Amino acid sequence: MGKRGPKSGYTHMSCPNHECTFYGVTGEGNVVSNGTYRIQSGIVRKFICKECGRTFNSRTGTIMQGLHTPSNKVEECISFLDIGLGIRATGRLTDVSKGTVKRWSDRRNRL
Ligand SMILES: [Zn+2]
Repeated sequence: MGKRGPKSGYTHMSCPNHECTFYGVTGEGNVVSNGTYRIQSGIVRKFICKECGRTFNSRTGTIMQGLHTPSNKVEECISFLDIGLGIRATGRLTDVSKGTVKRWSDRRNRL
């Protein structure tokens, strides 16, 4: 595999997939950027491991911390809120209770 340009390879990142050859190994260049998405406090970068195809992101110390809900559910809700949907509509679309969506929304607005 040759070079893929300056953006490929986050050598300080390691793959979080236990099954992966490069699990926890840094400096192999197997982790590449897979885009970004916006959250309340900035940009979260998404990564993908070229070895196993696992995607993950750089969310630490974000809204997801300490929540028991799967983070993709939270992200889904937040993305609906971001495009201007109301709490009730977001709850309906994501199958999350209104109260919960409200809580995430408040949390997001505070951060
Ligand atoms: Zn991997």
